[in-house]
Amino acid sequence: MRAEIIAVGTELLLGQIANTNAQYLSQKLAEIGINVYYHTVVGDNPERLTQVIRAAAARSELILFTGGLGPTQDDLTKETVAAFLGLRLVTDALAMERIAAFFTQRGIAMTENNRKQALVLADSVVFPNDHGMAPGMAYRDAGHTYVLLPGPPNELYPMVERFVMPYLMGLRPDKQVFHSKVLRFYGIGESALEERLLDLIEQQSNPTIAPYAKEFEVTLRITARAEDTSAAEALIAPVEAEIRRRVGEFVYATGETSLHEVFVQALKERGETVSCAESCTGGTLSSLITSVSGSSQVFRGSIVCYSNEAKEQLLEVPAAVLADHGAISEETVKHLAENVRRKFGTTYGIAVTGVAGPSPAEEKPVGLVYIGLASEDHTDIKQIQLAGRRQAIIGRAAKFALFFALQRIKER
Ligand code: ATP
Ligand code: MG
Repeated sequence: MRAEIIAVGTELLLGQIANTNAQYLSQKLAEIGINVYYHTVVGDNPERLTQVIRAAAARSELILFTGGLGPTQDDLTKETVAAFLGLRLVTDALAMERIAAFFTQRGIAMTENNRKQALVLADSVVFPNDHGMAPGMAYRDAGHTYVLLPGPPNELYPMVERFVMPYLMGLRPDKQVFHSKVLRFYGIGESALEERLLDLIEQQSNPTIAPYAKEFEVTLRITARAEDTSAAEALIAPVEAEIRRRVGEFVYATGETSLHEVFVQALKERGETVSCAESCTGGTLSSLITSVSGSSQVFRGSIVCYSNEAKEQLLEVPAAVLADHGAISEETVKHLAENVRRKFGTTYGIAVTGVAGPSPAEEKPVGLVYIGLASEDHTDIKQIQLAGRRQAIIGRAAKFALFFALQRIKER
């Protein structure tokens, strides 16, 4: 089945937003073995949108649209598809009910243009919108399936996970399942990982192995196609074993999780607590930890000690240490980790200090970072050299601090 994605929205053409919906949809379709051949972006213009639909219908069986389902004048995807296919638009009762309820609950009058959001293509399958007002829909004719989806990612993603994926699975001629397992890595770069697995990646067709880097972590998705899930798992197992044999020391978890979730979970299980002293990460580490629900059980607080004065006055780093070794040093990070732990009365104190760039500091290179992990009787210190721009160094330093702490905590 040939598929293509059409993103509708002038703001995409103006460069105000990036077409991340197409990226997301392509990934989801790849997971179930549907090949995407084209991405098109078109503005909120019915003539040009019609031309794009005509071209798509001539070459693809599955056409997915995102954007332009909203209430305003410039939202015209449904209207244009309906005109192209010679279909009527009809009101979807459930969507209309939800829209009306939304306005009643807030005690505000519904404007007439909101009724437009409940309109769907006649004879289509409707996908409810659990996070917004405009439903999605799919319409099939002799040779094509047209799938219309909302533009806002927070509405699109849950609709796709819950309704669109099962719908698309049902369209595929062979009913094989796709099953995948994600291995999550830390402490190894995407290219280094790929290099060590290159022969495996190239040889495999079922399962396939796909590395990707996201939010300063590297993951590997192993995807198998088989009669059922357990048959797919059986295909994945030997490949996973070989990957672990080669790079297993960098795997910190499997599945849909993150370093911060695993970290918080590990502390919860041990009944332990943590506090942080953050210099170059400026609160990023604490923000990662507190993004995990239930982190209040393990996280007491942190001190963002960006200036030397803050390090000295709030965290009692001796002036002589700062003068002799600098703020970016083993000695300073040791004091920061130990003192923040003591002040907050936590099991562990984590400290991060380094050069985020773009210019060097204290004659030390950009990307040099010290991480300290203090516990009652011991302080571990790690010096690392990170690459990338300022934002990447900050993100990587925070993630590395979690990874380092996690490793040490688990060794205990
Ligand atoms: P709404 O009811 O909000 O108008 P809609 O389905 O009409 O939803 P659009 O008006 O096209 O969607 O876009 C709404 C918002 O969704 C955009 O401002 C943008 O933030 C986001 N968005 C739209 N298209 C994309 C895209 N292709 N990639 C990423 N984000 C997008
Ligand atoms: Mg809109």
